[in-house]
Amino acid sequence: MAKTFYIETFGCQMNAHDSEKVIGTLQHEGYTQVTDEDSADLVLYNTCSIRDKAEQKVFHRLNEYKRLQGEGKRFGVLGCVAQQEGEKIFEKAPFVSLVSGSASYRNLPEMLRRLEAGEHRITGLDDRQTDETFDTEFTARSNPHRGYITITEGCDKFCSYCVVPYTRGKERSRTSESVLTEARRMADAGFTDIQLLGQNVNSYCDPLGKMNFAEILAAVGEISGIRRVRFTTSHPRHFTKQIVDAIDAVPALCDHIHLPVQSGSSAVLRAMQREYTREWYLERISWIKSAKRDISMTTDIIVGFPGETDADFEETVTLCGEVGYDGVFAFKYSPRPNTPAVSMPETVSEEVKSQRLQVLLDRQREIQRDLYSRHEGKVIEVMVEGFNQQRGQIIGRTSQNKTLNFTTAQPVLPQIGSYVPVRVTKSLPNSLVGEQAGDAEVPAAVLKQAQPVGLVVLQ
Ligand code: SAM
Ligand code: SF4
Repeated sequence: MAKTFYIETFGCQMNAHDSEKVIGTLQHEGYTQVTDEDSADLVLYNTCSIRDKAEQKVFHRLNEYKRLQGEGKRFGVLGCVAQQEGEKIFEKAPFVSLVSGSASYRNLPEMLRRLEAGEHRITGLDDRQTDETFDTEFTARSNPHRGYITITEGCDKFCSYCVVPYTRGKERSRTSESVLTEARRMADAGFTDIQLLGQNVNSYCDPLGKMNFAEILAAVGEISGIRRVRFTTSHPRHFTKQIVDAIDAVPALCDHIHLPVQSGSSAVLRAMQREYTREWYLERISWIKSAKRDISMTTDIIVGFPGETDADFEETVTLCGEVGYDGVFAFKYSPRPNTPAVSMPETVSEEVKSQRLQVLLDRQREIQRDLYSRHEGKVIEVMVEGFNQQRGQIIGRTSQNKTLNFTTAQPVLPQIGSYVPVRVTKSLPNSLVGEQAGDAEVPAAVLKQAQPVGLVVLQ
């Protein structure tokens, strides 16, 4: 009998990629994905609990699913809220039959069989101390050109504000062999852009003891057919000069590093249990700035952490100017259950948090307006991502992870997934605008990188 499932995913790239693996596993178990909950036999909800009353939102959404109970459907809650709330979910939403955190996904086939046998309260909540990772060859990748590979799972850092160590379990790495086999298989299947994932991707520790993070990064970048390799998220504690050297040495490694700082104040960093100071962080930034390539930097920042004073906040604003980030993901501090910071008195009101966030974003916009202009007049290679019919533009992504929207005088539009040289004609604070360049205008460095698979794939 045909079995169908519907899955809804919230949260970070790790969650999005977890869902690709869950989907692949379900398909291997004979399920077919459908695009709405009404026509599904099994409804799954992959949740995130990093900020903002996430659990309330989950229960609200489950409440909406309630209308579907009694139709023979089964419901499952996956991800961080599932791990955090555990069996409480069965009490609040009795029609849910499966609750599983990400550390238990490798047991999904068995959990599905129990579900099909009619069991009502199946949990995957006790695997947070496991050394095993969710290695599966059944991954349903949603993009045929760009794909993710999780190389580390979980986190042992216990930053004082963060739920991840409690929801995703202890930090563990896949073997370099398994990672490289997956990367080669993806290259053979036509993927050219790979993103290595992990909550702390650069604390990668090969269980075979063969490779450190910089080495596996370079090894993936050297696979024939792979033209772009990104990685996220790096922790400053594990950021080495060797990573910068690898980017300089291997053209396929993208010239972009996301290095979350969280705060520019050493006092706040201490309270956050980040285990580095402003100066220590800035030293890593100086390594990046001294690279031969123009490496773009982005970061995450939390404003309004308990105890953050105006002077602390000002240090965050000045740090942004000093580093010169091409992008900042800034969040208002949100107290999370089970974390040490939840018992620290909140000294910054919601209003002040909002004001600080706005000040930071305004300042950052000015910084980006300045920084993005450095690309004007240059020819940059983009990967074609799509088309904006309304504006008559082709949407491209640069190696620095910037959006470059462009037009072309070519008679045929470039294919999605192809690589095209574009001359930048205008810069905005968050994107670039350009025109497709002739092959003769392509800089030598881009040509060198492009040779293995041909430079421009025009249909
Ligand atoms: N492992 C990464 C690191 O150490 O930078 C971050 C992973 S976390 C999923 C993504 C971002 O969410 C963090 O960098 C942080 O800025 C933000 N974040 C985490 N917990 C938060 C909280 N309680 N309140 C506000 N932002 C938070
Ligand atoms: Fe959370 Fe800190 Fe781990 Fe990042 S390093 S996932 S912020 S605990």
